[in-house]
Amino acid sequence: MVEQALNAEMMNPLESVRWQIRRAADALGLDPAVYEILKSPLRFLEVSIPVTMDDGSVHVFTGYRSQHNDLLGPAKGGIRFHPDVNPDEVKALSAWMTIKCALLGLPFGGGKGGVIVDPRELSPRELEELSRGYVRAIARFIGADRDVPAPDVYTNPQVMAWMVDEFARIKQGNEFGVITGKPVAIGGSLGRTEATGRGVVICVKEAARRLGIDLQGARVAVQGAGNVGSHTATLIHREGARVIALSDSHGGVYRPEGLDPRQVLDHKARTGAVHGFPGAQAITNEELLELECDVLIPAALENQITAENAPRIRARLVVEAANGPTTPEADELLFDRGIRVVPDVLANAGGVTVSYFEWVQNMYGYYWSEAEVNERLGQMMGRAFSEVWDMHLKQHCSLRNGAYMVAVRRLAEAMRVRGWLGHPDAARR
Ligand code: NAD
Repeated sequence: MVEQALNAEMMNPLESVRWQIRRAADALGLDPAVYEILKSPLRFLEVSIPVTMDDGSVHVFTGYRSQHNDLLGPAKGGIRFHPDVNPDEVKALSAWMTIKCALLGLPFGGGKGGVIVDPRELSPRELEELSRGYVRAIARFIGADRDVPAPDVYTNPQVMAWMVDEFARIKQGNEFGVITGKPVAIGGSLGRTEATGRGVVICVKEAARRLGIDLQGARVAVQGAGNVGSHTATLIHREGARVIALSDSHGGVYRPEGLDPRQVLDHKARTGAVHGFPGAQAITNEELLELECDVLIPAALENQITAENAPRIRARLVVEAANGPTTPEADELLFDRGIRVVPDVLANAGGVTVSYFEWVQNMYGYYWSEAEVNERLGQMMGRAFSEVWDMHLKQHCSLRNGAYMVAVRRLAEAMRVRGWLGHPDAARR
């Protein structure tokens, strides 16, 4: 296993998620067909999106949509606009969604989309045209009962609003349940914007309680100041923890006595970056990861904690707000060093859970209060956390393996009863 993990260091995220699924399926003694079904998406689309740029030229963007699995319900997962988007990343992210939804007990499969673009270089008009063009390209494959996109890196409620509007034009009628993470004005759920960060904080609290870490004054470092990082930092600060570092793609700021995340985020809103925040020391993203702290929260992109820097991680607990921030080899190294890692498929599942609530509210046309949303989120995340914790104790494994075992077992049972694993009498015939 360790040797396989060493090889895994060279893996891309798709190999990494496959390796996790196979390991869980093997540990549970499941039919090999379970892994074969889960190792690749059921459907993968590549689309070209022509956009007329402000200078009058036409630029053709490449986009993808991966529907990894629809075993438990419609595919579900965000849309990423980023220059590094590539087919294997999108496939991996969609597989993580399958695991995440199964782990939380949501009636969804896994999906993910992406467009190769740096949206920060587009004007608002170009961004709108790209968002609408992407939906036109994938419209026949999505829908409230087929595949339900949502925001991810560098997409937001405004982008979702353009997409849902374009879909309504194509279908000649509103279908708000086709996309979640919408603005509240057009069927978005209260609490959705903060939901991923809120779920991360629930996991920090659950883990800290079990590990005897007092959150009052606990030192927390957060990498990433986007949707997830900013709400995580703000909410954990509100719980009494000390946010000693926060970063974005330009670098980070560090203050051992603690930062007020709202002030740092105001500074970022004014200047475009967290660096330069008065009274704080400038640090790089690499240095942030290696700070001595109680809780490290990577909330940006994949492959941040690797075999190279894992030996220098000085956190007691790592809570993965981002998807795939720890490589498989780094994961083994942290496990051997006794550093607990609350895995992405659990830690950042608050977003998809409230996306599920949004979809339910759209289907019923009946909307909940924010308190109701947060209460149900707390219940679902708390239950999933306990299941993962119990599994990791029972199997003497990492929380990540425990999480995959809970999810893959649930998926395997659904495959069995749907007849995807062959007929029980087939071997005798
Ligand atoms: P976002 O676009 O709002 O923010 C991304 C943040 O990452 C920004 O602060 C950006 O500056 C920072 N960043 C980009 N490149 C970086 C780099 N090289 N080093 C350090 N920081 C960098 O995105 P988000 O929605 O907050 O997503 C962050 C992570 O959380 C992603 O892995 C995403 O898949 C995951 N996630 C998001 C949601 C959600 O609801 N938005 C749900 C589950 C998981």
